[in-house]
Order: sequence, then structure tokens, then C-alpha cells
Amino acid sequence: MIEVNGLVKSHGPLNVLRGVSLTVVRGEVAAIIGPSGGGKSTFLRCLNGLETFQGGSIVIDGLRLESDTPTPIRDRTLRRIRLEVGMVFQSFNLFPHRTVLANVTEGPVHVRGLGQDEAEDRAKRLLDRVGLADKLGAMPRQLSGGQQQRVAIARALAMEPQAILFDEPTSALDPRMTAEVLAVMTDLASDGLTMIVVTHAMQFARQVAHTIHVFGEGRVIESGPPSQIFEDPHQEATRMLLSEVQ
Ligand code: ATP
Ligand code: MG
Repeated sequence: MIEVNGLVKSHGPLNVLRGVSLTVVRGEVAAIIGPSGGGKSTFLRCLNGLETFQGGSIVIDGLRLESDTPTPIRDRTLRRIRLEVGMVFQSFNLFPHRTVLANVTEGPVHVRGLGQDEAEDRAKRLLDRVGLADKLGAMPRQLSGGQQQRVAIARALAMEPQAILFDEPTSALDPRMTAEVLAVMTDLASDGLTMIVVTHAMQFARQVAHTIHVFGEGRVIESGPPSQIFEDPHQEATRMLLSEVQ
């Protein structure tokens, strides 16, 4: 379970997050939508410990981070949180000079301490699951964007995290590659993986997400099941946002 309360984050004078609160239960798929510059990426980065924050708290499976958590405790908690929360970025972020297989075994071997053989077995199983069993020896540059993103998903899964955060995983992809990646994500969702997905792919959000959180003005302005958000948005800003993207 992921529980965020009153998260506040500024970049200098810019108040990016002004008190974001939301809860994601185990097995839930939460979609985050919102205007560009609305703090969605910043929010995910705070959740994954890539950014510090100035106020509020984050609790992930009992690991609690507050803005004033003392540094040694914070560092220890951050390390544990990063093990439990995977992240998939818009720009794939694979290791460019390593094969597909090595990209997926790296974390389990070096961070989780898995043996090489066990890590390779796991990687092969996951790469098969995302439809890339025939690309184990390929280098990232030899793959399409959709294939690279599916490697990135396999790499995140290989760490066996409690949850995976996705930051616009398909916005660098053409429609066919987008469909490939969304199919993998839909499969993970039906398997019960806890996911937070920042996305402009409204069809996906509508069909796969259990809850949609609408960001605006540095807060969650409304949350609800897709049917309510799409058919009966309570906030004018949500109506405007949906009319822009559809
Ligand atoms: P998009 O939909 O375009 O990806 P977003 O909702 O993900 O937008 P963020 O990337 O979180 O938005 O950025 C929120 C605000 O914080 C923006 O105004 C951005 O310019 C600012 N910002 C983000 N990172 C930094 C940084 N490292 N230093 C200063 N300002 C930053
Ligand atoms: Mg962003």
C-alpha cells in the first residue's frame, strides 16, 4: 500500500506540489492525468526517492518517509523504498552498451544479490513474457522504441518490486508500439501488479485503471473510478483537461 499525505515540493520559488494526498492499495492500478508542468513526474520522483520534498509524508508498505526524517534514517529508508518501487520512464533509460539480457540481470545480481544463473533464468522468463524471447543478445539501439520500453518493463519486474511507477511510458512511441507496450501493462494489471501510471493514453486509463487521480495546481483536484471521471467529472479543470486530450 502506498499512502501519500500532504506532499509539498518546491523547486526554489516554484511550488510544484502543494499538498498532494492519495492512496493506492495493493493490486490497484492508479492513473494520474493532469496538465503539462502540473508536477506529475515530480510526484513519481518523490515516491521513488529520486527527489527530496519539503512537507508531508510518504508511506510505502510500512516504510515511512517524512520531509524532516533525519538523514541517516532517510537514506536507509530510501534504499529500501527503491528496492520496492520500480520505475519506467518515457525515455526507456536502458544501459546502452549492455545486451537486453544484461540489462535485465544487472539489478537482480548487483542490487538483490541473486546468482547469475538464477538472474538469467528470471530475465529470460520475463523477456518471454513481454514478447522479446528472441532479443536476448540484442543491444538496445537495435530495438524499436516499443521493444526498448518492454525491456525496461522486464528490467523493473526483475527486481520483484511491490509496485511499478510509469511516467508516460508510451508518449515517445508511435501508435503500433504504444499498443504493444499497453498490452504488456494490461497483462501486468490483470496479474495484480500495483501500478501508478502517469499517462495521456486515455483509452488505457479508462479501461485498465481502477482509480484516476487528476492533478492540477499542485494538488489532486479529483479522484475517482474511470467511469465517474470520464462521464461525470466534478471539477471544471477535469472537464477542460479531458476535452483537450480526447
Ligand atoms: P509533463 O506532463 O510535461 O511531463 P509534469 O506534470 O510531469 O509535466 P513536472 O516535470 O513534474 O511536470 O514539472 C513540474 C514543474 O516543476 C514544471 O514547472 C517544471 O518546470 C518544474 N521543474 C521540474 N523539475 C525541476 C528542476 N529540477 N528544477 C526546477 N524546476 C523544475
Ligand atoms: Mg512529466
